[in-house]
Amino acid sequence: MREIRFYNTLGRTLETFVPLQAGAVQVYTCGPTVYGHAHIGNLRTFVFEDFLRRSLSYLGLEVTQVMNLTDVDDKTIQRSNEAGLSLDDYTAPFIQSFFEDLETLHVERAEHYPRATEHIPEMIAMIETLLEKGFAYVSDGSVFFRIAADDDYGRLSGIDLSQQMRGERVASDEYEKEDARDFVLWKAAKEGEPSWDSPWGLGRPGWHMECSAMSMKYLGESFDIHCGGVDNIFPHHENEVAQSESATGKPFVKTWIHSEHLMVDGAKMSKSLGNQYTLKELLERGIEPRAIRYLFVSAHYRQKLNFTFDSVAAAANALERVDKMRFRLASASENGGPSATITAAIERLGQDVANALANDLNASEALAAVFQLVRDVNKVIEQGAVGQGDRERVIAALADVDRVFGVLDPGDWQQDDDAADGLSDEAIEGLLADRQAARKSRDFAESDRIRDELQGQGILIEDTPQGPRWRRG
Ligand SMILES: [Zn+2]
Repeated sequence: MREIRFYNTLGRTLETFVPLQAGAVQVYTCGPTVYGHAHIGNLRTFVFEDFLRRSLSYLGLEVTQVMNLTDVDDKTIQRSNEAGLSLDDYTAPFIQSFFEDLETLHVERAEHYPRATEHIPEMIAMIETLLEKGFAYVSDGSVFFRIAADDDYGRLSGIDLSQQMRGERVASDEYEKEDARDFVLWKAAKEGEPSWDSPWGLGRPGWHMECSAMSMKYLGESFDIHCGGVDNIFPHHENEVAQSESATGKPFVKTWIHSEHLMVDGAKMSKSLGNQYTLKELLERGIEPRAIRYLFVSAHYRQKLNFTFDSVAAAANALERVDKMRFRLASASENGGPSATITAAIERLGQDVANALANDLNASEALAAVFQLVRDVNKVIEQGAVGQGDRERVIAALADVDRVFGVLDPGDWQQDDDAADGLSDEAIEGLLADRQAARKSRDFAESDRIRDELQGQGILIEDTPQGPRWRRG
């Protein structure tokens, strides 16, 4: 197998990637906090993670990907209270919106989408371990991680908290901490907040704890790759490393891969600038999702990507070059034996794409290989030298590399309009019956999968004492 290299945030070096289990790779990707629609900055990260997933699979590894849904935190609680809705009712449409966005951008589904609110016992168990080992303490019904007990704290981000913050009391609502640096593992419930029972009273997990407990549940105590945006490195991922390795005594994650920010018109996205576009807002302005996906996958993940209406137009133009070649090829007549130029071009395409991906996901080099093929094939068409079977071979070669890009076949994107009507009532009822059967046999992974599938199709399910009810969202 080809040598794969990634830039590992842990250690900040480009290094050879060797999965823990030969032939397979486990990937954890931090998912959305479902208090609103994802903005395009979030979506750049999710499309990058999809590109990583597809690249690993193209390079011959079997991928297991987990992406969590943060459906309880300060923001979801605050906004659901403001809206006068339960947490579930408040987050359900945003979970649905998230899956719709993935669908729109042709992001492949992860194997698991665990929800924080469905993994509270796992989080409590891990906090108990940290307490037993002296890495945590209880204060006023909350539990905190004791940074002073972790000698290597800061090993991921390189941050040194040893001096500046020690003992400072930064915020009035954090007075119960021993040390201002400590972070919360479990938050005691405030009046009117949704809460779960725990050995320390009613409360809810801290955000960092969610990802540690859920990644370990699905991928084990040590796994291959953990991803997120660069803004997750500190404190979120640093705290995940600290609590996970303190709890297990084992290395948590081998390779940390972080994608850079998306800029809009050269500026950081922010509410005040009004440039935090959601995907739906862009679609309303007539921007093609296919061009957005192309723009996202064409930039290297470790470079800031500047989103402008011009850059989307340039992406659409690049795709048009591929589409035009397809069109010309389809109407070219095949004469004589296969073209040697095309045979060589196809051979080179597969090699060049694989080499580029294996080199820290060099997307621009991989796409350059696609455009080299486009040029070569155009030349053969102009010479009238397209031979027997060449048309089919070129289309197959493009389809093969499109397993990674997910954007090169215009047909894949047109079908979306035809499928917009979605599932029939009968199909929905059938899937719901399958879900009930799965629940009865305690196959919760399957029942969750069906629920997510339905949700991805815009179907909202509500479980009532009379059985499940559904409606179109
Ligand atoms: Zn996370």
